[in-house]
Amino acid sequence: MFELLTEKFSNVVEKLKRAKKLDEKTVDEALKDIRRALIEADVNIEVVQKFLNDIKQKLVGQEVIKGLNAGETVIKLIYDELLNILGKEEPLKKAEKTPTIIMLVGLQGTGKTTTAGKLANYLKSKGFAVGVASTDVRRPAAAKQLCTLAESINLPCFVDEEEKDAIKLTEKVIEKAKNAGLSYLILDTAGRLHIDQELMDELVEIKNKVHPTEILYVADAMQGQDAINTAKEYHEKVGLTGVILTKVDGDAKGGIALSVRQVLGVPIKFVGVGEKINDFEPFHPDRIAQRILG
Ligand code: GDP
Repeated sequence: MFELLTEKFSNVVEKLKRAKKLDEKTVDEALKDIRRALIEADVNIEVVQKFLNDIKQKLVGQEVIKGLNAGETVIKLIYDELLNILGKEEPLKKAEKTPTIIMLVGLQGTGKTTTAGKLANYLKSKGFAVGVASTDVRRPAAAKQLCTLAESINLPCFVDEEEKDAIKLTEKVIEKAKNAGLSYLILDTAGRLHIDQELMDELVEIKNKVHPTEILYVADAMQGQDAINTAKEYHEKVGLTGVILTKVDGDAKGGIALSVRQVLGVPIKFVGVGEKINDFEPFHPDRIAQRILG
């Protein structure tokens, strides 16, 4: 997903490497190229502005860093700014009392249920006792999909197909999960094709009932800035602690990864890199910055 950014930045980097001096023309040209690259990659416009302003400010009175030539100095500034925009790597938080409940929210089709299975599998591979549960009373197929996934990796799945009230269902599955001696419970919630108030109210009620340690928004990278705008609404209404970016293996332009942290103020914690259960990894800002700069 970062191919476009990598390609565009490689042009900038090549030009800078050839530059002998940090004169105004070189810098202006580099900033213009960076702006174009970020916009073409669908980075949020305010983030682009911040990125350029920060670099400009650092360049004022910048001396060439010892051991680097002029171009390399600017490249180092770009790398630092990429890290700044992406933020630090932030692992999952743990609750004081087990199980740590991780609630996944997001629209239908973003990969939420698949991600619940992947995250459970990831935590299991770290040696934790993990279970999954669904609070979706509207789409029994979603709960079935989750349990089939859980079964395939030998993890317990807590559902109750008879219960048609989402809050009562939540109470029941949480009770069962608490009795199972788990370290982590991944709570998959209902999604809709579009945001609606009823769903938001339901999610807030579930949140108040179970006090999740993490509320992670599952965002489809292919949806670019639309995904960020939707996540923003979720954040305002439900309060997010992070994002999981799915379908990073597709041909998304990558701008979403650079925008989440700045626009929402919460980190990307994991990325989905394929349809299989193991196609899932923690988000490493430093590796992304390195990849973008080739
Ligand atoms: P939900 O409606 O949000 O629960 O979405 P699902 O979990 O049912 O996923 C929707 C589709 O996206 C399925 O076909 C998944 O296989 C696919 N999917 C989920 N995550 C990824 C990913 O990281 N990469 C790719 N290529 N496909 C994914």
